[in-house]
Amino acid sequence: MAKVKVATDWLAACAGCHMSLLDIDERIVQLLEAVEFTSSPVTDLKHPPEDGVTVGILTGAISNTHNVEVAKRMRERCKILIAVGDCATFGGIVASRNLVGTEAALKRAYLEAESVVDGVIPDSPELGMPLDVVTGVDKVVKVDLFIPGCPPSADALFYALSELLAGRMPVILPPEHFKYD
Ligand code: SF4
Repeated sequence: MAKVKVATDWLAACAGCHMSLLDIDERIVQLLEAVEFTSSPVTDLKHPPEDGVTVGILTGAISNTHNVEVAKRMRERCKILIAVGDCATFGGIVASRNLVGTEAALKRAYLEAESVVDGVIPDSPELGMPLDVVTGVDKVVKVDLFIPGCPPSADALFYALSELLAGRMPVILPPEHFKYD
């Protein structure tokens, strides 16, 4: 039987959600019997294949124009899109920028921070231009499943992927998979 293709990508994020995916540990061997990870930020192949995948996973918030492009490309190329982590679900820690505004946040980070010497606010189009408001992924593209948490536990991710492989959409994840320290 053909394996289910899964692609992952990240937006404005730390690597924590992807690390949690790797935290599935030895169960990844079980997953790999049924799943082919076509691309991810932690492999050589970064972009989902043009002929598409079954499951697309996005971590991170929508913070700049590049994030919008990445989210739209994933949406176009996957059947089921999962927003993994608080940042992808509602903006998470990245959305704290909304409290002060983009201009003030950039100024503080790149010009005024105590560690800055000869600071410059980056404005390369390659990086993407910052948006006025940071949001979750669903403000830009349709999301089929949210798995909140910072990061979500490996158990929650494994459960969700296992349910999808069994042909079930895990609309509500069991509470035992969520722990908040
Ligand atoms: S939800 Fe938490 S762990 Fe995941 S990308 Fe955001 S800050 Fe990092």
